[in-house]
Amino acid sequence: MRTVLVRLEVGAAETPALLRTVETMNRAADAVGEVAFHAKAHRRTHLHHLTYHMVRDRFGLSAQMAVRVIGKVGGAYVRDPSHKPTFRRRGAVPYDPRILSWKGERRERVSLLALDGRHESRVRWSEYGRQAVARGKLRGEADLVYRDRAFYLALVVESVDTTPYEPTGALGVDLGVVNLATDSDGTVYKADGTDRVRTRTDRLRAHLQSAGTKSAQRHLKAIGQREGRFRRPTNHYISKSIVARAEDTKRAVALEDLGGIRERTTVRRSQRRRHHSWSFRQLRSFVEYKAAAKGVPLVLVDPRNTSCMCPQCGRVDKKNRPTRDEFRCVSCGLAGPADRIAATNIAARAGVDRPIVAGSEGL
Ligand SMILES: [Zn+2]
Repeated sequence: MRTVLVRLEVGAAETPALLRTVETMNRAADAVGEVAFHAKAHRRTHLHHLTYHMVRDRFGLSAQMAVRVIGKVGGAYVRDPSHKPTFRRRGAVPYDPRILSWKGERRERVSLLALDGRHESRVRWSEYGRQAVARGKLRGEADLVYRDRAFYLALVVESVDTTPYEPTGALGVDLGVVNLATDSDGTVYKADGTDRVRTRTDRLRAHLQSAGTKSAQRHLKAIGQREGRFRRPTNHYISKSIVARAEDTKRAVALEDLGGIRERTTVRRSQRRRHHSWSFRQLRSFVEYKAAAKGVPLVLVDPRNTSCMCPQCGRVDKKNRPTRDEFRCVSCGLAGPADRIAATNIAARAGVDRPIVAGSEGL
């Protein structure tokens, strides 16, 4: 179970109505808390009986809003009967499907009941939020949160991750610059036209990075997001193919563990850029969550020397990699495409490294 906070685009005209609703629900909650504490109303039905009409008449809440407020206060009081439950003036207020409804196929908009009727707002989904909802089950209850002059919905997503199977072997996956992904079976996953776009944005990115100003940083972020939107369908397709291939053969998916990559100075410059790229991280996270949803075990392996180690004789040498795309072992002569050799090394390491249970946190 996890909480996802999504920002709502509430217009200036709508803000006062929603704020008034939040404040009124909190004032009503305070009044209900007063009654609960003095009457020692431990049972919700009792509290409901004592306060329902007061909440509706005095605060003008709708029937369902009253039910939610009383439920919230009752919950707080049961958790700690020694204190009178009190609520912040603009604290979070509870909504449920009777007073909140989603609009659009991808929940692009949400309609919230306020004191003066329903108000519709656009929902600004984050990548994390979209993925959490896509792989889990969204609960009907949500809190409306007002923070730093903006409204948010705190959503609760229940996990539906499948228990991973016991894998026999691993499908190693090298995520790269030349090819977006290459697996240890030799499958190369590409996207048409991506390289051209990427080279163009890479040049612009390098220019902005050297500028280092605040506006350059904003521009950099925008480029990353644009690239991400462009790459999104490709990343979905590639990650789906990789996970399906592993699932069909009951293997684990093995990826490089990039947890400490920023600290490591031995990582090549070109590699570092690829690890920081927004779309690269998106592809990785797609593989991770699709694997978790399908019950395909995910193994993260030590990334050191995956690109210059010979999988046949174990020789580690930078000269094994005469060019970016080519691998040729200086010791035993094994040769092949560099990405595939790296994927083979990643697969081989999966057996000896710490397995990560599918469904673990950390998108
Ligand atoms: Zn060799």
